[in-house]
Amino acid sequence: MTQAITTQNQGKTTHVKGLQCKECGAEYEAKAIHVCEFCFGPLEVAYDYDALRRSVTRESIQAGPLSIWRYRAFLPVETENPIDVGTGMTPLVRANRLARRLGLKKLYIKNDAVNMPTLSFKDRVVSVALTRARELGFTTVSCASTGNLANSTAAIAAHAGLDCCVFIPADLEAGKVLGTLIYGPTVMAVQGNYDQVNRLCCEVANTQGWGFVNINLRPYYSEGSKTLGYEVAEQLGWELPDHIVAPLASGSLFTKIYKGFQEFINVGLVADKSVRFSGAQADGCSPIAQAFRENRDFVQPVKPSTIAKSIAIGNPADGIYALEVARKTGGNIESVNDAEIVEGMKLLAETEGIFTETAGGTTIAVLKKLVEAGKIDPEETTVVYITGNGLKTQEAVQGYIGEPLTIEPKLDSFERALERSRTLERLDWQQVLV
Ligand SMILES: *Cc1c(COP(=O)(O)O)cnc(C)c1O
Repeated sequence: MTQAITTQNQGKTTHVKGLQCKECGAEYEAKAIHVCEFCFGPLEVAYDYDALRRSVTRESIQAGPLSIWRYRAFLPVETENPIDVGTGMTPLVRANRLARRLGLKKLYIKNDAVNMPTLSFKDRVVSVALTRARELGFTTVSCASTGNLANSTAAIAAHAGLDCCVFIPADLEAGKVLGTLIYGPTVMAVQGNYDQVNRLCCEVANTQGWGFVNINLRPYYSEGSKTLGYEVAEQLGWELPDHIVAPLASGSLFTKIYKGFQEFINVGLVADKSVRFSGAQADGCSPIAQAFRENRDFVQPVKPSTIAKSIAIGNPADGIYALEVARKTGGNIESVNDAEIVEGMKLLAETEGIFTETAGGTTIAVLKKLVEAGKIDPEETTVVYITGNGLKTQEAVQGYIGEPLTIEPKLDSFERALERSRTLERLDWQQVLV
């Protein structure tokens, strides 16, 4: 048998060659660095694909755990005992009722609203980043967060016994703040927007020697998003979809789903196929959508103002790469307003029984807009990525979803209320019909 692994010592196997600058190609060791010394381009993990092609099969993946770690060979860690809290392998749901409402034939929802442990896609990137942080010897981990990342970092750090200090904008939704504090980290609520939080964290990363999952550990962190591509390919029976729609904050997730698909093609796990990539932003923070519309190849930073706070990054680090992916695959990048985002949340809940947060409402509303504009073909197998859970952003829908019928604990009180609600429903329908 061929010796397939690139390096092996003391229970460690890895196919990682090192880090490489996305712009000039300069190569670096796989340390806690994220910017090229020569051209200031972002660093990305490079792998030995020949070794991967020889050693990884569909069967070897399927024999792995029911988590993102079944794809460990494609992730930037050495240990064979990564931090596994059951992250990943979330449901890929055939969304027939939503499809019918929109006029599509084959629609799927990749449902990371039920990811573990903190109900968002961020559990993927944090599981990878903290596993690598531990390998690199960090004892304190940190992040600059729009909410979900703080939840994930605090929870998974607690599980791994790492010290944790997270930074969030002071105006986050109550559910996101509470969902961080419960794990007992130090929480810094910064009086400023996410981009200001991020700038502060870059300075702290230089002075404290902490592992910031999305700053000095960003090359490892971002690789975690590739699993959103791998899982969809595997769950579709080792096939790629025709079109995907995903939300854009920094643009990282979007570009890494693309990288994941390309890697699976490259090592022969799926047949080659071109997949169209469409991205979703909120009007109140749409620097990438604006650049797409205006056909620019640079992203003009904006000051965010939208209810979709988890994706409100005004100066997106991977914006230009997301633009490139949408353009070269024949996709689109669209944005929707806050009212459409709330409608998107309600539409997904009412048709599919999935309660997503504002980011998911944005993605569903953009899906609808693209279908109506003829930019998604009804015949295309389309996968929509739902990345977060609605219970964390309850403020967004408060006042838009009706109220319970309060009744006395008596049968006739119930029957009168039921009659009243049926009358209201009929009136609603009459309004729809006129
Ligand atoms: C962070 C986040 C995203 C997008 O993240 P990128 O920075 O683009 O990788 C999307 N949805 C939710 C719910 C998020 O928390």
